Amino acid sequence: MKNLIITPLGTVSPHCSLKRNCPGFLVEVGSEKILLDCGNGITRLLNFPDILNHLHIFITHYHEDHFGDLGSIESTAFCYHNLGMLEKKVKVYLPKKEYLGRRNMILKNQEAYSIYRDIEESKVYNIGDVKISLKDNHSHGIESYMIKIEINNKKVVYTSDIGTTNIDGVVNFCQNADLLISESSLLRRHNRNLKTHLTAYDAGKIAQLSSASKLLLTHFWPEEDRNLYLEEAKEIFENVELAEEGKRLVLD
Ligand SMILES: [Zn+2]
Ligand SMILES: [Zn+2]
Repeated sequence: MKNLIITPLGTVSPHCSLKRNCPGFLVEVGSEKILLDCGNGITRLLNFPDILNHLHIFITHYHEDHFGDLGSIESTAFCYHNLGMLEKKVKVYLPKKEYLGRRNMILKNQEAYSIYRDIEESKVYNIGDVKISLKDNHSHGIESYMIKIEINNKKVVYTSDIGTTNIDGVVNFCQNADLLISESSLLRRHNRNLKTHLTAYDAGKIAQLSSASKLLLTHFWPEEDRNLYLEEAKEIFENVELAEEGKRLVLD
């Protein structure tokens, strides 16, 4: 039975810091590699050129912090292909709706070695033994997808960026995840009026309501003390950890 290995590559937003990158998670099952978002700086943690073989990239939405390093990966694939060291194109799955010309900018890149596919909510994507399904969370202000990864009766859900206006829909999609990777951009003390992101407490609440086994928090404010996110989520959900760049999790 193949293990599912998840490596956080980027855990902060909206900008990188010395040791932290913008959002990205690498999922490995056998020889298949799946990137969930492609934030600024994540290429620092990728193993080139091996990573380019059997690589599938899902971009959840067109905010810069989620696709800032896509161009670097694509141009590296272009170079390695030209050197005769990469045969298969990188597969890139994109939200359908244009946003500020960003989709078009990605699609018209002439120095990429990629195939592009639109994300379809009605589809289950089979990548090796992995099943992937996606759902627009309808709470982040723009088209933005949650991603579910299933293999061997194990389920991982990555929320990407979500807000507080469609909690029922989010909870429904996240039901019974063995691992829920949730954004937690804010703390309650930020006294926000923002509805397009979650607090760590909100993330804990979603983990509780959806009966997750474990919660992994991510998408932190770079200048904020990370332990405060952990404490806040733990008020409502016990089995929680902070995502750390390079710290692998294995589900077997
Ligand atoms: Zn966003
Ligand atoms: Zn973001």
